[in-house]
Amino acid sequence: MNNKSEKKILKSFDRSYSSYIFFKKPNKYRELENHPRSNESIITIGANYSYAPMGFDKNSLVIDLSSFNRILDFNIDKKEITVEAGITIYDFLKFTLRYNMWLPQVPGYPFISMGGIVATNAHGKSCGIHGTIRKSIKKIRLFHKTNGWLNLSENENKEIFDLTVGGLGLTGTIVAITFSLTELKSHRFETQIEEVISIQDCLKKIIKDNDNEFFTYSWNRADSLKNFGSGFIYKNKLENNKNKINGHLRKLSQKKISNFLPFSLWNTFTINIANNIYYITEKNKKNKSIEDLIQVIFPYVGKESYFKLFGPKGFIESQILISPEKVGVFMDEFITYFKKQKPTITLFSLKKIKGEHNYLRFEDSGVCVSFDFTNDKKNIEFLNLIDKLCIKHKAIPSIIKDSRLDLNTVRNCYAYYQDFKNKLKNYDNKRIYQSTVSRKLDL
Ligand SMILES: Cc1cc2nc3c(=O)[nH]c(=O)nc-3n(C[C@H](O)[C@H](O)[C@H](O)COP(=O)(O)OP(=O)(O)OC[C@H]3O[C@@H](n4cnc5c(N)ncnc54)[C@H](O)[C@@H]3O)c2cc1C
Repeated sequence: MNNKSEKKILKSFDRSYSSYIFFKKPNKYRELENHPRSNESIITIGANYSYAPMGFDKNSLVIDLSSFNRILDFNIDKKEITVEAGITIYDFLKFTLRYNMWLPQVPGYPFISMGGIVATNAHGKSCGIHGTIRKSIKKIRLFHKTNGWLNLSENENKEIFDLTVGGLGLTGTIVAITFSLTELKSHRFETQIEEVISIQDCLKKIIKDNDNEFFTYSWNRADSLKNFGSGFIYKNKLENNKNKINGHLRKLSQKKISNFLPFSLWNTFTINIANNIYYITEKNKKNKSIEDLIQVIFPYVGKESYFKLFGPKGFIESQILISPEKVGVFMDEFITYFKKQKPTITLFSLKKIKGEHNYLRFEDSGVCVSFDFTNDKKNIEFLNLIDKLCIKHKAIPSIIKDSRLDLNTVRNCYAYYQDFKNKLKNYDNKRIYQSTVSRKLDL
């Protein structure tokens, strides 16, 4: 890499934002250190799968870390692995699964980078049992333009470690990460399906479910008031059969999701048809079936067209973490607004998350409710009302998923927003690392 940067256009995954950016793709550690001596801001980008524009900004030099994708160390006895942050989840698991080990907190798409999941404190399907990726991070090697190279862990530079996990790339470039691996007793899951007739029925069953062997989540309808909340609860349980382990991850090729259709195919009519087809298919399935690891942990693999069908304006995902005590009343009020505004919702799903809230992390113990909306004025107005509900019920809306969220909502919903901001400023008073989202959130 030389000191000259290149220019290209980048879009956020939800298509809400696009911009020309200047980027550099270092290949060596020396090149990573070799930033121009200007006052320019920087931000590190992973695989750019965040729904919101958090890995780039038109006023920041974007550091693309994808060349840093090696496995640096693996200790089978300690079940620890050190990797460079640009490695994808897929390449990571391809290696660890050969030893029947994995990270149960990886998010639902295989081509996301390991640096990206640390910087967003991502979670996987089993977040009701295993919490977020924070639980598996042992050490981080970070580079900061003025603070230099730093080793971060519970025992070394703990304050910066805590700011970096879920810190949205604002403390510097995560170059390497050491993870604690979890043993995997099988590569196949037994999946159970149970029908739910309403949102109340679904919430009751999901909240009550305390079995630590199941990854539990739901698919619910939101295509009409009459159907709202009906659907299915899915439970994945690892098969207890060591003999069935084959140690290899099925081959996957990366699909280009960036080419959304030139028009939107999702509207009230098509969503209703898609929901009916899905509902009938699932209802006719056996109550128990066997699925492989990829089908369970990467639900979007093979279903990438779902995103493309939103067309050029893209979509809005609202993911909200609500305490178990408040989620019932939150959903009642949500339905009251739903009756009035009739928003267009393509996807609605629930799962539990286990953890403790801090800083800007999407983490707490509660129920995680996710909705995808088509991106239009009516739905944005509806979501502005839902922001108010979040503030009222102290619910946490995801900054990574919802690019629409404003400073007022984030400041009021994230109890540790100011603490994060103060500590970040204390660590880097020039606030060098900046993305479109961080500027909007005044960080
Ligand atoms: C289909 C799909 C399914 C998903 N499923 C889930 C899910 O189940 N659970 C979940 O939690 N999330 C999920 N996500 C969101 C995704 O996990 C996060 O947005 C993740 O951060 C994306 O990683 P990335 O490599 O694409 O990073 P980017 O989108 O490129 O960057 C994300 C953030 O991480 C920072 N960052 C990236 N790399 C580094 C680095 N090396 N050093 C410092 N900062 C860095 C960036 O600055 C930015 O703030 C999903 C996304 C998609 C598209």
